[in-house]
Parts: sequence; C-alpha cells; structure tokens
Amino acid sequence: YHAKLDRDRTCTYSARYAVNTVERLRLLTDLRAAIDAGQLAVEYQPQVDLVTRRVVAVEALIRWRHPERGMVPPDSFIPLAENSGLIGELTEYVLDTALATLAGWRRSGHDIRMSVNLSARHLSELSLPRVVTESLDRHGVPASSLVLEVTETGILSDPARVDLIIGALRLFGVGIAVDDYGTGHASLGYLKRLDIDELKIDRSFVSDMGRDAQDHAIVRSTLALARDLGLRVVAEGIEEESTAAELRALGCDVGQGYHLGRPVPAAEVVRILDEQTVPVPPRPATV
Ligand code: C2E
Ligand code: MG
Ligand code: MG
Ligand code: MG
Repeated sequence: YHAKLDRDRTCTYSARYAVNTVERLRLLTDLRAAIDAGQLAVEYQPQVDLVTRRVVAVEALIRWRHPERGMVPPDSFIPLAENSGLIGELTEYVLDTALATLAGWRRSGHDIRMSVNLSARHLSELSLPRVVTESLDRHGVPASSLVLEVTETGILSDPARVDLIIGALRLFGVGIAVDDYGTGHASLGYLKRLDIDELKIDRSFVSDMGRDAQDHAIVRSTLALARDLGLRVVAEGIEEESTAAELRALGCDVGQGYHLGRPVPAAEVVRILDEQTVPVPPRPATV
C-alpha cells in the first residue's frame, strides 16, 4: 500500500512539476539550500468573520523566493519535501515564524488565531506535540490561539498514532481543523472519533456555489452537519461578494478567499488589524 502511495505521488508531481528525476533532484538541492539562505518566507491569508467582516484568524502559507525560478508555489515543493525528510524542518520553520509573528501582533493588542498547515507525515510523528508546545512556550502564545490544519489523507495515514497525536494536541488546547474538507477519501467516522474543532470546506465546492446547484447542496449540508456537531466552519476560496453573502445567509461563520483578502506579508496584516481596531471617529458637532 505504501509503495503504491509513493509511486502515485512520484508520478503526480513528476508529471506536473518536474520533468524528470534530475530536475527533481536539483529542486531538492535548491530547497535544502533555500532553508539555510533564508529564501523561505511565510505569508498570511485573512480569515474573516462573515457577519462582522473582521479578520479573526490568518492562515500561514509558505513561500519560496527562488533566485532564478522566481516564486515557486508550495504545491510543487511540499510533496518533494515530504518524500525527502525536509518536511519536518520546513514545518518547524513555518510554525515558529508564524508564532513569533502572532506574538508580536498580540503585544500590539491583536488577539486573533493562527492556522498552520501540517503534512500527512506529521500526524504520525510522535514528537509533534512536543515540538508544537515548545514553540508556543518560546513565544508565549496560548495554545488556544493556534489551529493546526490537517487533511483527511493525513488522518487516514496511521489511525492509531493519529488518534494519539491529535489527542495530545487537543489536551494542550491546540485547535485542529480538517483542511480541504470533502476532497479526501476518509469516511465520516473520524469526525466522531477525533476531537476536531473546525472544518474548512474546500474551495472546489465554494467558488462556484452561486452557479452550481450541486456545490451549493454540498456546502449547505456540510454547514448543517458542522452545526450539529458543534464545529466551526471556514469556507475556502471565496472569490466574489455574492458567495460571501450567500455563505453568511447559510450561517457559515468564517470565510477565506481572494475576495476577502489574499495571502500577504506580516506587515500588511498589521495594517489591516490596526485599521479594524480604529474606533469610528465621532461626528463633528453641528452648530
Ligand atoms: P491550503 O492549505 O488549502 O491553502 C489554501 C490555498 O488556496 C493557498 O494556496 C491560497 O493562496 C489559495 N487560495 C486562497 N484563497 C483562494 C481563492 O479565493 N481562490 C483560489 N484559486 N485560491 C485561493 P498556496 O499558498 O499556493 O498553498 C497551496 C497548498 O500548499 C496549501 O493548500 C497547503 O496544502 C500547502 N501549503 C502551503 N503552506 C504550507 C506549509 O507551511 N506547510 C505545509 N505542510 N503545506 C503548506
Ligand atoms: Mg490549509
Ligand atoms: Mg485548503
Ligand atoms: Mg490544499
């Protein structure tokens, strides 16, 4: 089974991103150097309360500014990092950078949540809860401000370990979100078994829900399921105002997407957060 998985993965990204083994090897060598050379950066995409339109959280997304290739998208190097053992280092970098950034925002009075993506591999890494709590402690960030995004593929990878690791993280107070909800192969049993906080409805259902009756039905029923299970929902891939308005009407808590805010550097998030805390100036007195 694992051999098959690895073979499938290799096929997928060799076809899509790197033409051959040599090319992949070069990218991998570059990635290793990039970590040391500080070419990796983190951007933050706002998650917006659909009622108040305030930013209540951000998702940390890794960026690689390659000196010759320009911006390399994460979908093309995350799978490579996963298969080469670099993923641990990469995730710790993102987690630690994101929590350091959040600590700074918190000192300026901005109390929002931070979401960080985990790879499938991390969910069977028994050291993960310790790595996470050490980073939280280092930056003085409460566990309840951190949400770790996991995929259904990750949840399926090694159920006994995943239960243990998610259980430990939840015990510390860290939030767990299911990313790309609805696109994995997992049966819904994990929603009962695991202590999950949040579902992120995949953008493939959200972006077109205003035009596609099936997408609309999937989003609507996911919202109903989440409500009954007491889970927060984040709708991904909101690209138009009409989608944001429709989701709000359906009772969706939080939205994420280009229409509400693209991934941006930390300084830009600060600007947005500062703006939303500025009190409305009093109307000038009329004489
Ligand atoms: P994801 O976790 O599902 O992240 C959301 C992706 O959708 C991001 O792409 C974001 O830029 C994009 N997106 C957000 N709003 C919209 C929209 O309205 N329309 C469209 N078309 N796209 C939108 P990005 O940054 O390229 O990341 C792609 C994937 O790479 C992520 O998907 C995640 O699976 C992975 N990834 C990114 N950063 C990390 C990381 O630090 N660690 C790990 N393990 N994976 C990461
Ligand atoms: Mg994510
Ligand atoms: Mg997603
Ligand atoms: Mg994804």
